[in-house]
Amino acid sequence: MSEATPRVAVVTGAARGIGAATAKRLAADGFAVAVLDLDEATTKDTVQEIEAAGGRALGVGADVSDAEQVQAAVDRIAAELGAPVVLVNNAGVTRDNMLFKMTEVDWDMVMNVHLRGSFLMTRACQKYMVDGKWGRVVNLSSVSALGNRGQANYATAKAGLQGFTKTLAIELGKFGVTANAIAPGFIQTEMTKATAERMGVPFEDFVKAAASQIPVARVGQPEDIAHLVSFFVSEGAGFVSGQVVYAAGGPRA
Ligand code: NAP
Repeated sequence: MSEATPRVAVVTGAARGIGAATAKRLAADGFAVAVLDLDEATTKDTVQEIEAAGGRALGVGADVSDAEQVQAAVDRIAAELGAPVVLVNNAGVTRDNMLFKMTEVDWDMVMNVHLRGSFLMTRACQKYMVDGKWGRVVNLSSVSALGNRGQANYATAKAGLQGFTKTLAIELGKFGVTANAIAPGFIQTEMTKATAERMGVPFEDFVKAAASQIPVARVGQPEDIAHLVSFFVSEGAGFVSGQVVYAAGGPRA
């Protein structure tokens, strides 16, 4: 990889949280980064921070669950930044509720963003990886994949992403493409803030209570996950594929 032609990475849901930290980390690692989120305007801060640090970034608006928008976004990334050969499927939503109160709309929404979204984005980008005989896919799963009260939809989607990851590893391996999943525990972002609000607990107390249950005695930060993404997409990680790493500050969720 020469400095003049950096490899291109796409990070979905990169306006904030884990996605924003990952986009910034991959830019610092030398990738040109497509900062993709629902609304292009919300990607501005991440793009500006990358550019201010001397990196290259492109803000792209798209709903990952919409096939046409995904194709248009990937076409634009390929035209304006270059062939997308690293994909981080990070965009996510929660619509928590106990099973007996869960609506079909909330079930479908969570499936669509996590599963359909990762499928559509990966299908659109894999062509560039296969053509170039090199690629990296990282999918954001969760400790919730092991089961979590009030998250039948989210747990199902996050477990599904693990099967998706392993299948990508099998299908795409011979083209120099690896696929891995990261299953974070509690990470301090807007997503966990929204959970605290829904439960009526001040976020600070929620974070303290979570940290008290975690062996490393703190909650995770977006940069903790970005660091692991950085490893998975690195040149040297080419023999690591189809794996799920639980990044939760300890051995158990
Ligand atoms: P976050 O702060 O809520 O950020 C998620 C981003 O995804 C938001 O910018 C959101 O945009 C975007 N997004 C949502 N739906 C989208 C769609 N259809 N198309 C494109 N972008 C979309 O979440 P986070 O905490 O950083 O989580 C990132 C990923 O890690 C998610 O997959 C999440 O499930 C997973 N994860 C998080 C934790 C945690 O503790 N935080 C733990 C385990 C796994 P809008 O703001 O416009 O909706």
